[in-house]
Amino acid sequence: MTSNPQQRFLELWGILADLGYGSAILQWDQETYMPPSGGPMRGKILATLTEIRHAKMVSKEMADAIEAAADVAEEGSELAAQVAEARRQTERERKIPADLAKALAEAESNGLMAWQKARAASDFSLFREELAETIRLNREKAAVLAPGGNPYDAMLDLYEPGTTEAQLTPMFEELGAVLAPMMSAVSECGVVVDESPAQGHFDPAQQEAFTKMVAAKMGYDFEGGRLDKTTHPFCTTFGNGDVRITWRYQEDDIRPALYGVMHEAGHGLYEQGIGPDARTPLGHATGLGMHESQSRLWENMVGRSEAFWHWAMPHFVEAFPEKAGLDPATMQRALNTCKPSLIRVEADEATYNLHVAARYNMERQLFDGSVGVDDLPELWSQTYEDLLGIRPPSVAQGVLQDIHWAMGAFGYFPTYTLGNLICAQLFEAARGDLGDLEVMFAQGEFAPLLGWLRDNIHVHGRQYSTQELVERATGKSLSAAPLLSHLTGMAERIYGVSLGVEGA
Ligand code: ZN
Repeated sequence: MTSNPQQRFLELWGILADLGYGSAILQWDQETYMPPSGGPMRGKILATLTEIRHAKMVSKEMADAIEAAADVAEEGSELAAQVAEARRQTERERKIPADLAKALAEAESNGLMAWQKARAASDFSLFREELAETIRLNREKAAVLAPGGNPYDAMLDLYEPGTTEAQLTPMFEELGAVLAPMMSAVSECGVVVDESPAQGHFDPAQQEAFTKMVAAKMGYDFEGGRLDKTTHPFCTTFGNGDVRITWRYQEDDIRPALYGVMHEAGHGLYEQGIGPDARTPLGHATGLGMHESQSRLWENMVGRSEAFWHWAMPHFVEAFPEKAGLDPATMQRALNTCKPSLIRVEADEATYNLHVAARYNMERQLFDGSVGVDDLPELWSQTYEDLLGIRPPSVAQGVLQDIHWAMGAFGYFPTYTLGNLICAQLFEAARGDLGDLEVMFAQGEFAPLLGWLRDNIHVHGRQYSTQELVERATGKSLSAAPLLSHLTGMAERIYGVSLGVEGA
């Protein structure tokens, strides 16, 4: 045991990190290669690791090591930032009483089972009790995390530290005020976009080869990563020398595979580029909103641009010869449709944010107590009617469609739109610094953009908050204007509808 306070603190913290990465490897395996009968035992191993990690995190030994390191940390130093982050995490872990943590875990597990049944039967009453309990316990959790504070802010803080309802609400209102009328204008304009360029028959082996080639071209390092198949694609990290992504495909549509891989590779690039040691408190991404901005940037700003297709088309046609003769502009139109839909995960880039806004409004009302569980099915339908102009014909396609609330993940949804907002603002700033990105994309040059993201975002790890990183990288605080400008510009280009967004 070392007597150097900094070394001692980082040694203990490294053990916590190892336990976390160990669990992540087991979870990755569970989703990819574990045989079906391995489930129950895997659950036990993960529960044991989680328990050990929790005990170490809230131990006196850890608290003493953090305080001893704090005593020798100079103001503004890296050590001071490490100590602040370690305090934030351990204090949060310590605030939740053991019986509440246990009740939450049970409620989540019951909630998931009930939700699956209720969704299959499209019957909200089968989920009502469990959801009410999950909400009750999460409000209790919010009260212990932020006594006397705004309960919904305590939930937001779990996923994007420092983000508040007061910051988000004006941005969601601004988005709704432009995107809802844009949606109506697009619906009424009579233009129907042909999506057949993205559809047809795509051999799975060719899809894998093509999407892997695209990910490598983006800069995703396969020497420090892998691509495996899962039902729900994700990215996971065990330190930046081992960042894995997963994918799925559909034989009759290239979009799930291509945009799934570009999305996850975008997350992967962030993780592979993190500067601080992965076993220290700062060696992680800063928050889920910033993480999502990186995936969305590659998926939407790069992958759905015409310039990208100027480079990609010959490779695409080589992999899928039936697409011979397809031109980049036609492909781009097929990839940027905009139409109201009921299901969030199937929504296009523009309407996606309205799906998130709907959930954000409902969550806030659940946490301020102005609506109860029994109000949810009708509130959902009404919110969809107001924002998207459509009502779900069943609760399975309405309030029961997402897994998040069943898992107790309240405050998670906004990070999706936060990601879209940040991505548009970063892209605008990168263009300002680097010049015409489209010319580069058309030549298959993505390294300048990646380099800009590395320098401005990735390398900092958790040294700065998401809001601070946005300001440092773009010179402005986060605003809805760049995303609105991007989305209305696209609607004008594809559908010929003009929204006249001022200053956007
Ligand atoms: Zn994502």
